[in-house]
Amino acid sequence: MRRPTIAFMIVATASLPRPPAIADDWALFLDVDGTLLEFAERPDEVRLPPDLVNVLGALHARLDGALALVSGRPLDVLDRLFAPLHLPAAGLHGLERRIDGSKEEAPEPPPALGHLREDAGRVAERYPGAVVEDKGSTLALHWRGNTAAHQDLMALANAALPDLPGYRIQSGDHVAELRPGGANKGSAIEQMMDRPPFAGRRPVFVGDDHTDEHGFEVVRDHDGLAVLVGNRQPSVAAHRLADPTDVISWLQAAIGSPA
Ligand SMILES: [Mg+2]
Repeated sequence: MRRPTIAFMIVATASLPRPPAIADDWALFLDVDGTLLEFAERPDEVRLPPDLVNVLGALHARLDGALALVSGRPLDVLDRLFAPLHLPAAGLHGLERRIDGSKEEAPEPPPALGHLREDAGRVAERYPGAVVEDKGSTLALHWRGNTAAHQDLMALANAALPDLPGYRIQSGDHVAELRPGGANKGSAIEQMMDRPPFAGRRPVFVGDDHTDEHGFEVVRDHDGLAVLVGNRQPSVAAHRLADPTDVISWLQAAIGSPA
């Protein structure tokens, strides 16, 4: 009876209901790329919808501060993107965290990560459009702009892994990231939920990528809502929004702003 199960799962995420309207007692955790922002070929080419910073600022106020970004990007990049906001945030998939103003830094990268960055840079030169993104403790290899680079970049990443103790390869949407194990988006959300202004609220996490499933599991374990953006399969999410435009309309509705 495997086929009916698989068929059910394929239908499942596309037919998930929209999440209810945002409530005052929620703690809202938002992924960034693919959730608030459409992907660009290069991560530094993303564009912010004109009203997004105002919407996030107003929602942060409405939720008494219980709104956080949970992203694979470093915190300093999130701050630049969403300036002048300095929202509570987990960066680098939870390796960096800023909760109630205090910041926890990611660990220093081992030297082998620098060697991999140089080797991957040479591969990226052969495949215009491929991007090597140095995030400090982690290194992300992107092939969205040139899918032909996928195989060579993955081969390099796999070859480098034995020299990177404690590191692993985290696969994402047209990206592989070498990063220390341990923290993930779920553990970051769990930690934020233990502290004000998030503690005691109903957690809601909105994300698109399979790395967001850790966060979905945590919010569901805490009687919260997991909201998938798009149709990715499989997912433990129970609600769905179609794309970043849909996410922003849903956020706007909560502050009475026109979609
Ligand atoms: Mg994402």
